[in-house]
Amino acid sequence: STVESVDAQRIRRDDRAHVFHSWSAQGQIDPLPIASASGSYFWDYEGKRYLDFSSQLVNVNIGYQHPKLVAAIQEQAGKLTTVAPSFANDARAEAARLIAELAPGDLDTVFFTNGGAEANENAIRMARLHTGRHKVLAAYRSYHGATAGAIALTGDPRRWPSEPGMSGVVRYWGPYPYRSAFHAESQQQECERALEHLRSTLAVEGPQTVAAIILETVVGTNGVLVPPDGYLRGVRELCDEFGIILIADEVMAGFGRCGEWFAVDHWNITPDLITFAKGVNSGYVPLGGVIISRAIAGTFQDRPFPGGLTYSGHPLACASAVASIGIFREEGIIEHARDLGANVIGPALADLARRHPSVGDVRGLGVMWAMELVRDRDTREPLVPFNAAGADAAPMGEFAAACKQRGLWPFTHFNRTHVVPPCTTSAEEVLAGIEILDTALDVADRYYTG
Ligand code: PLP
Repeated sequence: STVESVDAQRIRRDDRAHVFHSWSAQGQIDPLPIASASGSYFWDYEGKRYLDFSSQLVNVNIGYQHPKLVAAIQEQAGKLTTVAPSFANDARAEAARLIAELAPGDLDTVFFTNGGAEANENAIRMARLHTGRHKVLAAYRSYHGATAGAIALTGDPRRWPSEPGMSGVVRYWGPYPYRSAFHAESQQQECERALEHLRSTLAVEGPQTVAAIILETVVGTNGVLVPPDGYLRGVRELCDEFGIILIADEVMAGFGRCGEWFAVDHWNITPDLITFAKGVNSGYVPLGGVIISRAIAGTFQDRPFPGGLTYSGHPLACASAVASIGIFREEGIIEHARDLGANVIGPALADLARRHPSVGDVRGLGVMWAMELVRDRDTREPLVPFNAAGADAAPMGEFAAACKQRGLWPFTHFNRTHVVPPCTTSAEEVLAGIEILDTALDVADRYYTG
């Protein structure tokens, strides 16, 4: 039926009158009121169910309303809801210990924030003060958050309206074999040339002026760009050679998303700083942070760290992180995520690519996958232009609408659809979702001209 419930009408009315939404022209949006959620599904007020292939903003790694995670928050709420960062607190101390134990190498202290952007802001601050240098190398095709420094680091169009931003950001190209900036014809060439490009960039910038190189271990919203084997090791070696801090932004890639606790584990790399958020507690309460190497922590041993947040290490958020890590272990969620990628999602998307000409590329690992939609496989012309909006973006809009109509909530960005359901989604649920993608791809195929 097209008649909405009174509840939904009231929510829409109040929302449109008073809620100012992210990234949007306020007059051109019509947000769907959500009534409830469970596992990998959410429901609107008409009782329509959506299988969530986006995990909201790729953060609900544990699925919705996990009873033990909800209970842990309730229990902490009954005990102590808030306490300033200057005190010691059981939930915070335990969360920090658990995260430090999971982190690679000697990364063993945690600075907590409310989310990913603040984590990156503080990581940059630490790197600059630790090295006494100013410049930061950040990649094109990256997203690091929307606060002043984080948006300046961001290498995508969301940065443009905020320019000129923080000084000292130098841009470089990371590996992207399907659309290589280096005209590479193999993964190995892409790896070698991307590293050579990074070395040359450092040489002309003056490596002694560079505090940090920041990268997303696996690039998220800008395309699920999985680095070729050897790339991260090469970046680590460049950083070691020149005394540069390596910051791995694992806000999206960490905590199970890539089938590992941290995506760097997949390549056995130890960065100097890891930033995290999203999957650490699946966003049940806002939480992010920086995991800090012993050397960098040492810089602030006898000298104050000039940064803080009223809610750094918030007890509700930290209690939910402790519970979430426990549930991941009990339920084998990391292993499940790895298995889903290797044995379910990967093969099923490869099958879609065989049957739909519009699928130009399939890539990913764990529960982090992308399909790139094209009009021509030879030229790789994207289904919609880079950064398309309005009428130009219509084909992707039609594709997304076809998914939603059939009860699948997709994650689309430019000419891509990502497959990023909760890490707890069952193989059967994933395959049911991919069956809907299969039907919706007929829409994209109609634009194929190759
Ligand atoms: N870094 C990465 C890789 C992200 O994907 C995001 C969010 O999408 C952020 C940072 C920013 O996190 P937040 O929105 O919690 O500030």
